[in-house]
Amino acid sequence: MAVFKPENVEDFYEIGEVLGSGHFGQVRQVRERASGTCWAGKFLKIRKIACSRLGLDRSSVEREVEILQAVQHPNIVALKDVFESRAEVVLILELVSGGELFDFIAEKENLLESEAIEFMKQILEGLGFMHSRNIAHFDLKPENIMLSDKVSPHPNIKLIDFGLAHRFHQGEEYRSTSGTPQYIAPEVIDSEPLSTAADMWSIGVITYILLSGLSPFQGETDEETLRNIIAMNYEFDARYFSMTSSMAKDFIQKLLVKNPIDRMTAEECLLHPWIKPITRIQVAKRNRSSINMKNFKKFNARRKWKMSFNMVLMCNRLVQLKVLCKGSSDPDPLQRQCESDVEDTETKPASLLRRRLSSSS
Ligand code: AMP
Repeated sequence: MAVFKPENVEDFYEIGEVLGSGHFGQVRQVRERASGTCWAGKFLKIRKIACSRLGLDRSSVEREVEILQAVQHPNIVALKDVFESRAEVVLILELVSGGELFDFIAEKENLLESEAIEFMKQILEGLGFMHSRNIAHFDLKPENIMLSDKVSPHPNIKLIDFGLAHRFHQGEEYRSTSGTPQYIAPEVIDSEPLSTAADMWSIGVITYILLSGLSPFQGETDEETLRNIIAMNYEFDARYFSMTSSMAKDFIQKLLVKNPIDRMTAEECLLHPWIKPITRIQVAKRNRSSINMKNFKKFNARRKWKMSFNMVLMCNRLVQLKVLCKGSSDPDPLQRQCESDVEDTETKPASLLRRRLSSSS
């Protein structure tokens, strides 16, 4: 079991600027007083009342911490320390200062497939390591794929946000409908037993977007997106994939497979000729093909805009919830929130998906 230190985090760390916001709190830069080293502090609000929507169950924070401790790998964000107060848990994480991979790529004029593959390889290595330990991420999307730093010409991939990750135990059947609509696998939507293969579906979607700037299943609404996923409704539109190699398309096709058992694993991906070419012809094909940068830039700009929009929406909802709790004569207003949770899950299957703060529509 991880040690949650009861000391005040501010006695050891100076709290700095906000780096980002998640569903249940903020991530801020923190400076260790003893060494002067900078880290990222993930401040997670803990639920005071079991059924409240405000904050997280302590048990889910414990799970995130245990998983982070189990996945020490160069391509996965490292956990240094954990502090706990009455209302908050603070995870002290390695500072990942290079920003999101997609933003880094969007700033480039051109990118060859062979250059993009260097990043894909690192993502697959991190993921393969997790999967070999029976841990699935369950929320792979561009926002959670970051780069180690801004100074190096070849920064390293760092996978972040293990808030939905799960460790499988032998014989266990695990189902979850959480995730982000654009990136989730059909078995998540169908509420079927899950495995690490659900992450591989998300890798297929991310690769498709990276190469074309199109999101394969994106509909006008989340419900339409989910329907498209279930129907396997996607194609390689020649207008967007004219610069893409046939090997890259084959790689995606072997990931966007409905039956999780038939999907490539991370290990198999690392051996696919698009990632690890064997012949000179395969090497040449990758070097001749490039990503559709014009459309990718458009996709990324839209994604960032949606993220900001969703952030404003979430802040407004939080303020409303707080006002509701303070202003109500009901002795237990949070209990009501609990009841509305139950209503949601019974009437709208799509709303079962715990909406993550993201670029989703
Ligand atoms: P999370 O709740 O883990 O998804 O984090 C929310 C946001 O905070 C992310 O989208 C990142 O922008 C930022 N963030 C999270 N972890 C780190 C980290 N270790 N270093 C720098 N920024 C981070």
